[in-house]
Amino acid sequence: MATEGGPSILPVPEIGAGRPVPLPPPDPLRGAAFLAALGRRLPGLPIRTDPVDLEAVRRDETANLHPPLPLAVAAPATVGEVAEIVRLAAAYRVPLVPRGEGTGLSGGAVAVAGGLTLTFRRMASIRSIDEADVVAIVQPGILNAAFKLAVAERGLFYPPDPASYEICSIGGNIGTNAGGLCCVKYGVTREAVLGLEVVLADGSVMRTGRSIVKDVAGYDLTRLIVGSQGTLGIVTEATLRLRPAPPPKLTLLAFFGSLAEAGAAVSRITAAHVVPCTLEMMDAFTIRAVEDYGHFGFDTTAAAMLMVESDAPGPAAADELRVVDRACLESGATFTVTATDPAEADLLRQGRRSAWWAIERLGVARMEDVVVPRSRMAELVAAVERILAEEGMPGGTFGHVGDGNLHPSFIVPRDDPTAEERIDRARHAVYAAALELGGSVTGEHGIGVAKRDWLERTRGAGAVRAMRAIKDALDPLGIMNPGKVLPD
Ligand SMILES: Cc1cc2nc3c(=O)[nH]c(=O)nc-3n(C[C@H](O)[C@H](O)[C@H](O)COP(=O)(O)OP(=O)(O)OC[C@H]3O[C@@H](n4cnc5c(N)ncnc54)[C@H](O)[C@@H]3O)c2cc1C
Repeated sequence: MATEGGPSILPVPEIGAGRPVPLPPPDPLRGAAFLAALGRRLPGLPIRTDPVDLEAVRRDETANLHPPLPLAVAAPATVGEVAEIVRLAAAYRVPLVPRGEGTGLSGGAVAVAGGLTLTFRRMASIRSIDEADVVAIVQPGILNAAFKLAVAERGLFYPPDPASYEICSIGGNIGTNAGGLCCVKYGVTREAVLGLEVVLADGSVMRTGRSIVKDVAGYDLTRLIVGSQGTLGIVTEATLRLRPAPPPKLTLLAFFGSLAEAGAAVSRITAAHVVPCTLEMMDAFTIRAVEDYGHFGFDTTAAAMLMVESDAPGPAAADELRVVDRACLESGATFTVTATDPAEADLLRQGRRSAWWAIERLGVARMEDVVVPRSRMAELVAAVERILAEEGMPGGTFGHVGDGNLHPSFIVPRDDPTAEERIDRARHAVYAAALELGGSVTGEHGIGVAKRDWLERTRGAGAVRAMRAIKDALDPLGIMNPGKVLPD
């Protein structure tokens, strides 16, 4: 057996060969030998072990997680470097955590004890934008907003738009299968990914899909990787589907005296077969928090607000919003208002995107992410209100109601020693309510570490067994983001 300055390096099973081997507990000697070997093999690779650098990649945006510091953080610049890192990590049995911008809300990118965190800011370029095929090839580190802007300059459109789009990466969006504001019309990230380049757990490089919009050869490995939160492989390149840029949006705001009326309006809009490009809701608490944060002109006396946007061409946009307007008024809206120019529409959308920042500054806050059939939205909202009342806890509810996807958010004073316990009680009650209503414990943020205990209740034992078999086959050593997604 070959050695590389210290502990023995171990054989690396090929993907799909043999039985899974349990990952040994972290060992400082093995970790040091791994880093030394990495330094020798990839002398140009930035590897940081300073506590300040490690602290920066310890957490993501999820409250109440307590991850350890990682062994080190490295920033590869090429797929070749990623493959070499993975080969060495496999040989030294060192876990790897791929990390985008750390804006995740389920703990997918949080550090792992004895693990190497990989960041992709040195792999953040657009390889090509192909106007004939209407696709682009990008590296994982590029920010969603930067990519959107680059394709917009060519008259093209990349739809996935998480509210965090200015600060999250395409790699992270693929890792979580991110949703966003316009998913109601254009679908989530998965709908925009045509192919991936992925470094697998033995250091081999797999390609799934390419610049073609139809392809049914074999299993759909692209969709398997999208949303796998770095547990099956490391994405080093993505081929993304673009669309022609839609016309500027028209925006309608509708204010309601109760959440139930807003819920009824959503059902009416859906039943009228209108598919706006955005259908978002904010409750009274969120409206007030957002207004305190940024003064967007929302009615702070309302119990709920819907934001509806149409990007339909020509007069169709105004026609769509007329139907929406009628649906809102028939459901009891106190008033509706339509943005008169694109700058005003942008400001209103910015107001909705600020919801989490507005709430987060009010205390220890946790944003949740549950989804129910759209017809059961009102029941979910009522359940959240009941849970908040039972806990005597303030909180705001907002989200992508057009998809049945809500973000109930809980707030506890910073000096409350029981904050974590109370938030945990509330969030578990919300998950249970979502499942009871035929929904899921996550619509777009992922299972990460935060909801692993709920995976089986959500998907069933058989499905989790199948997921485990896939994980064992693709990552027999368990080095790919261990402790995420699957229950122990
Ligand atoms: C204010 C705010 C608003 C948000 N709004 C939305 C929203 O509307 N919709 C939504 O879906 N989410 C939203 N989020 C959550 C978050 O922004 C998304 O989950 C986003 O996709 C995370 O991207 P990131 O670059 O920060 O990835 P990270 O958080 O760093 O990582 C996310 C996951 O992807 C994996 N990953 C990262 N890079 C790679 C790679 N190269 N290969 C394989 N796996 C990788 C990580 O291991 C991790 O599991 C919001 C977050 C905030 C703070």
